[in-house]
Amino acid sequence: GFKCGIVGLPNVGKSTLFNALTKTAAAQAANYPFCTIEPNTGEVAVPDSRLQAIAKIGKSANIVPTRISFVDIAGLVRGASKGEGLGNQFLANIREVDAVVHVLRCFEDDDITHVEGRIDPVSDAETVETELMLSDLESLERRIVQFRKRASSKDKEALTVLPVMEQALALLQDGKPVRFMLNGIAAEDLLILQSLNLLTSKPVLYVCNVAESDAATGNEYTEEVEEMATKQGAETVTISAAIEAEVAQLPDEEAKEYLEAMNLDEPGLDRLIRAGYKLLHLITYFTVGPKEARAWTVERGSKAPQAAGVIHTDFERGFIRAQTIAYSDYVTLGGEVPAKEAGKARDEGKEYVVQDGDIMLFRFNT
Ligand code: GDP
Repeated sequence: GFKCGIVGLPNVGKSTLFNALTKTAAAQAANYPFCTIEPNTGEVAVPDSRLQAIAKIGKSANIVPTRISFVDIAGLVRGASKGEGLGNQFLANIREVDAVVHVLRCFEDDDITHVEGRIDPVSDAETVETELMLSDLESLERRIVQFRKRASSKDKEALTVLPVMEQALALLQDGKPVRFMLNGIAAEDLLILQSLNLLTSKPVLYVCNVAESDAATGNEYTEEVEEMATKQGAETVTISAAIEAEVAQLPDEEAKEYLEAMNLDEPGLDRLIRAGYKLLHLITYFTVGPKEARAWTVERGSKAPQAAGVIHTDFERGFIRAQTIAYSDYVTLGGEVPAKEAGKARDEGKEYVVQDGDIMLFRFNT
């Protein structure tokens, strides 16, 4: 499955957030309770109101959301790239995730020590990023020597990989994370970059952890983070981990009242999970029947047979075609039969690129 790693300096609220994620109603929705895969990894349901709408129209008995995983990655301190703290373990854990959720402390509390002795989320972000960049720089400088040699003797693989390595190295030497080259990158270069498995090439989302009183409004710290994130083209989610920890334990009705009292219209975790999903470049398609309405996850750009393969490998192997109805057609026309009558149920073949919200029915050979 797809994984977001939660990182940040000590005492910024990572564990509080992770624990809230493991208890949230979204995590326990339908047939998929939060399940701990490893001690610090858990799956959560991705909240998606379209699923309720589809289930209602399709008269489905059950709703099955799609899921993503979060990993609580503890142990980052200044010097991690040189093995300080849990440095090596920490870096190894980041290597295994697909995207990074970077938690920043935007709350003041004299009782909770800040490792750097002051609240400064932008500087904290730089501290963490520096460790990751140092680690990437070291590993890339080490590996590139071989590739330069091989490329100069016209080695084919080296000739394709080297330009991507050089571009990444130039960014790092300029004090910038490798993800800055993701924007507009060619598909084949992206594959090469991913194969290098660098820490700073993963997409990042910033989470501002604020005091309860600032949850609805943000504060001067969150503004600083937003300014930094905007420059990077990254998203920011403002959340109060303390509120989320509280809400996650309450029954639905009470949770709603509590959120209203805090001027929030939904749990921050729902926003966080959706932002994480988007960060992973994932989209959702649906299947609908009397038994269940179900959401499935594919990477953006996937074609119909690959999407079918998410349900079962046989569906991909024997793929013939897919009856496809856009979500908006399904909902405005009122279901499969009226959509067919209106000519909105398309027969799509092997080359069809799945669109977010598609309602699909696969035909395949067994
Ligand atoms: P981690 O080291 O990043 O995993 O941080 P923890 O989640 O363990 O939190 C460190 C301390 O900060 C704990 O005592 C939390 O209760 C506290 N904490 C976390 N979030 C908030 C918050 O939003 N406001 C306040 N006042 N304290 C918080």
